[in-house]
Amino acid sequence: MDNNFTRRDFIKISAAATAGAVTLGSGLMASPHGDPNFSLPLIPYDYKALEPHIDALTMEIHHSRHHKAYVDNLNKLCSDLHIHDPSLDNIIKNISKFPAGVRNNGGGHWNHSFFWTVMKPNGGGVPTGRIADAINTSFGDFDKFKELFNEAAKSRFGSGWAWLVKTTDGKLAIGSTANQDNPLMDISDFKGSPILGLDVWEHAYYLKYQNKRVDYVNAWWNVVNWDVVAGRM
Ligand code: MN
Repeated sequence: MDNNFTRRDFIKISAAATAGAVTLGSGLMASPHGDPNFSLPLIPYDYKALEPHIDALTMEIHHSRHHKAYVDNLNKLCSDLHIHDPSLDNIIKNISKFPAGVRNNGGGHWNHSFFWTVMKPNGGGVPTGRIADAINTSFGDFDKFKELFNEAAKSRFGSGWAWLVKTTDGKLAIGSTANQDNPLMDISDFKGSPILGLDVWEHAYYLKYQNKRVDYVNAWWNVVNWDVVAGRM
């Protein structure tokens, strides 16, 4: 296996620039000494803080079991494969060089670390400023943007994610990825730098919404943290 990941390059996923925004935290970086040691990042709000839109039990299981499992599995895989001092960003960008387990669990860790930051209690509403301008330029208006994003979330068959990304030419684009893939992965058909993402795996909504993914997606707009999304522009 090509193993170029011994360098100690702690690339951080760009932190949101706005006041009060949260970073993805050190969980995306390996331990600076020795073996890989990715860690479960704290969520910057209580499990119950997103109610009634996302219920506390779903948040708790999603974070403390699902996300934790991705972290634990990723650490074990990196250890077994002798991937020392990896940067998750580098792994994700070169994911085609790794086994499927790294793709699933590395993607799972990246995606969930990102997901917690783009939500907040009393979020939602309509964005303003530069992000609003970019949305209007790319999609016509905010309602049309939401319609297209909802369609991406709804039409992703099975498990996956819907994304708003910034493309290499600086424009915004909407798409989706399967399983725990994301638009930063070299194997992804849909590429870009994520600025908003929505988990549409059933584990993200089934306790409260059962099979009604559309209801979950509609409710989720009420917890979007537009300050963080704008910061990722
Ligand atoms: Mn999930």
